Amino acid sequence: MSIRYSVVIPVYNEEPVVKESYKRLKAVMEQTKETYELIFVNDGSRDGTEAIISELCEIDTHVKLVSFSRNFGHQTAITAGMDLSSGQAVVVIDADLQDPPEVILDMIEKWKEGFDVVYGQRIKRKGETFFKKLTAKFFYRTLKSLTDVEIPVDTGDFRLIDRKVCDVLSSLTEKNRYVRGLVSWVGFRQTAVYFERQERFAGETKYPFKKMVKFAVDGITTFSYKPLKIATYLGFFLSFLSFLYLLVVIWLKLFTDWTVSGWASILSVSLFFNGIVLIMLGIIGEYIGRIYDESKNRPLYVIAEKKGFTDEKEKSTTDC
Ligand code: UDP
Ligand code: MG
Repeated sequence: MSIRYSVVIPVYNEEPVVKESYKRLKAVMEQTKETYELIFVNDGSRDGTEAIISELCEIDTHVKLVSFSRNFGHQTAITAGMDLSSGQAVVVIDADLQDPPEVILDMIEKWKEGFDVVYGQRIKRKGETFFKKLTAKFFYRTLKSLTDVEIPVDTGDFRLIDRKVCDVLSSLTEKNRYVRGLVSWVGFRQTAVYFERQERFAGETKYPFKKMVKFAVDGITTFSYKPLKIATYLGFFLSFLSFLYLLVVIWLKLFTDWTVSGWASILSVSLFFNGIVLIMLGIIGEYIGRIYDESKNRPLYVIAEKKGFTDEKEKSTTDC
């Protein structure tokens, strides 16, 4: 029985890399001697990325293009690619060649052994800033300690998933998606292959600090409500301290002549506690904002154009 593989590649302003990543992916997928499709999801690029992929579609029927109407984000792009994929096994890989396409062959081998999810775990990261490595390391470990779902550390979205896992993921409608966590949540038989993360082939990271923070907060809020409990614990702890201090004040008043003076101390304590209250309100706000996103029930993405998908209409305005 012939097998069909799908490779999903999210691309956002990747003009300098997209051709090279097509070449490398094609070389690897040809080695499988099976049929395959390369689905490039253009996440609202403003450079020549779309034109290049469009050209590739003309010369190679394996190539498919999905173009969003604007930038919806990396996680949404991955989701769209998975929704439109038709292979028995679906591989998600970044376009910048930081994830070596050759590892896909190892993933396929594990899949054939019977695993439903084969994720790429990074044993080393090359060519990334100290800040990025440090924050990534800290984030993955914090998330692990906050959630009950077993999300592997140092693991990105580079992975192979079986059709049945892909279908379950497509049926999940949540909006602020943290795909690597959702894959863990789904379950089934999962295993890792280890690889060294390479330097970006060309161009710059499309994850500036602001996007990184949003991504991290999405990961934590969608998989844990422990941050909400911080308010409760902190409240109890501070009330207890305040009570002890109250006893001290009464004792000072009754048995000594010494009285605490000065408004500076009162002001600093008051500002400190106001700060804590605002932080807690902010945390609650993050959760409420996400409930709001869910309740609006807008589609996850809007597709402006599809190319290379023979069995469907090429153009559609709203798709979800
Ligand atoms: N990407 C995307 N939409 C975005 C940001 C990134 O589709 O809004 C794609 C990007 O083109 C790349 C992948 O997601 O293929 C990972 O992005 P990047 O390499 O910039 O992230 P990093 O490896 O630096 O964390
Ligand atoms: Mg990258």
